[in-house]
Amino acid sequence: MVATSLMQPESRGRLLLVDDDEHILRSVARVLRLDGYEVLTVRSAEEASAAMDQGEIDAVVTDILLPRLDGLGLLRLVRDRDPKIPVLLVTGNPSLESATQAVEFGAFRYLVKPFDIKSLEHAVSEAVSTYRLTRIKRAVRRRSDSGLATCDIQSLDASLNGALDSFRMAYQPIVSIQSREVIGYEALLRPESPSFSGPMELFHAAEQMGRMQELGRRIRALVAKDAAEIPTASIFVNLHPSDLLDPELYNPSSSLAGVAHRLVLEITERATLDTVPDVKALMTRLRSMGFRIAVDDLGAGYSGLSSLASLNPDVVKVDMSIVRDIHLDATKQRLLRSIVPLFREMQVLWVVEGVETNEERDALLGLGCDVMQGYLFGRPRFDFAPIQIG
Ligand SMILES: [Mg+2]
Repeated sequence: MVATSLMQPESRGRLLLVDDDEHILRSVARVLRLDGYEVLTVRSAEEASAAMDQGEIDAVVTDILLPRLDGLGLLRLVRDRDPKIPVLLVTGNPSLESATQAVEFGAFRYLVKPFDIKSLEHAVSEAVSTYRLTRIKRAVRRRSDSGLATCDIQSLDASLNGALDSFRMAYQPIVSIQSREVIGYEALLRPESPSFSGPMELFHAAEQMGRMQELGRRIRALVAKDAAEIPTASIFVNLHPSDLLDPELYNPSSSLAGVAHRLVLEITERATLDTVPDVKALMTRLRSMGFRIAVDDLGAGYSGLSSLASLNPDVVKVDMSIVRDIHLDATKQRLLRSIVPLFREMQVLWVVEGVETNEERDALLGLGCDVMQGYLFGRPRFDFAPIQIG
């Protein structure tokens, strides 16, 4: 086992990296160390297990193909220790079977090689902050159980109050290449408070403090207010599973319901289908109020096609993990080529997300995709000035 020197105080977290390919192990570890993590590198599940006996780990990144016990076996081992430690599985041979097992045993992500290092860095950062908040929550619970001071709760709640009062929504354009028009905007939360470095941290804190519905209501109220300034008909808003359980969403006199005909509600299947009972009936209800429904992040990690059947969406958003470098990747091209006819048959609008280069755009156009979103066309912003398309 190779460990870095003792943890520096500014370490962003302690990662366990497992791969029997020395080259990958070294290069990925180097990037993550530069990002500020302490990285332990091991070459087998057995060594990983031993490393976990030595101290706390914030996230595990493991190849699936390992000698003897594989990455899925390691995932189960980690689950037995702590059901919350995020495990990111990486594989060069994706299969339905391994993806299904990844879901079954609660993998945090299922990444297919070769992956964009940025997407791994992003997933690791999300994993570490998720687990960090889990630990805060546990500490808080332990403290309240023993009747001691609840200063952590109070300070988290105070920073959350500040953040909930100050965040804004930024809007990222969604464009049609053929018609050279912006056909909609996705509303994305931007915390303005220094206590939260990004939207995920704010969501996690709200989740820990049981204030997700409050956050969801504030987002929807802001979007309804901004709607008057948004020049296109379609405004895409992300819903969290807790929003679907909030009666206020179905209130016909809410400010959002007043602009329902302009709204596309984006639902990611990752948690929704497991945690929200009778999601089909809820979708019918939202549609009867005039909202349209989008399945978000299609193809992200282990998310499959099951949501297409259960949510019967009007819009499908294809995840950026499929879009990234699609011009160089025959497998991704095959995937889109086989799924686009399905979208056509279902008469859904399909949007490809995360388009960043002209090469990606051209490859997507050739595969029958017209509606796109990504930095190539515009970052999330606070104004609606015209943009250059094509
Ligand atoms: Mg979205």
